[in-house]
Amino acid sequence: MTLDLTRRREEIQERVARAAARVGRSPDDVRVIAVTKDVEVERIAEAIHAGVTDIGESRVQEARAKRARLDGDVAWHLLGHLQTNKARQAADCFDVIHSIDSARVATTVGAARDPDAVPLEALVEVELGDVETRTGVRPADAEAVVRGCAGLYGIHLVGLMTIAPRGGSEIAKVAFRQLRELRDHLERVTSCPLPELSMGMSNDFEIAVEEGATMVRLGRALFGDRPAP
Ligand SMILES: *Cc1c(COP(=O)(O)O)cnc(C)c1O
Repeated sequence: MTLDLTRRREEIQERVARAAARVGRSPDDVRVIAVTKDVEVERIAEAIHAGVTDIGESRVQEARAKRARLDGDVAWHLLGHLQTNKARQAADCFDVIHSIDSARVATTVGAARDPDAVPLEALVEVELGDVETRTGVRPADAEAVVRGCAGLYGIHLVGLMTIAPRGGSEIAKVAFRQLRELRDHLERVTSCPLPELSMGMSNDFEIAVEEGATMVRLGRALFGDRPAP
């Protein structure tokens, strides 16, 4: 099993490297996050053994339970929506939160962070689809959230995240480019450095790397298909 994960991980690294090379980027600038929602602890332990350094989870509770049973020097990333009432629990479980969608939740989670720990890294999730059914802020509202996150205690804003709308690679490509351009715009108008772009999942991560992703979030490409919900 570990062998299988080692091989899949190598394949992913190669695909990232080829995509990066196509646009003259270094593969070292792309961090692969292993998305372990619905993956059992034993298999996550194998993945860490196979070299995985970054773990992504959707739910605070599930991540806390898993983290308590795993060791290894890995960074934990929260990818799913964060409710204010879970902020305290999230503050000491994660290293990076990709799903900030209001200055209020950022303030709450930052305030709950141990003042002696390094600040949590945070990304503002941006919704780029046509339908407002998903989480994240609309592009027009992103500036206010970025400004609201600047200078908070316990939390350090580092970039933007998006989930590509459904509809295939052309649509994903447009969304990834939009996120990058929005980031460039926000850096100009707010003077807040936003080096990280979290975009790209198993179906579209190579396109995301070509468009500037610094973090790709991969579940199925590493662990195979998830059981149907
Ligand atoms: C589940 C999930 C992923 C991973 O999706 P795959 O298609 O399995 O790679 C990435 N990002 C978020 C936010 C997710 O919820």
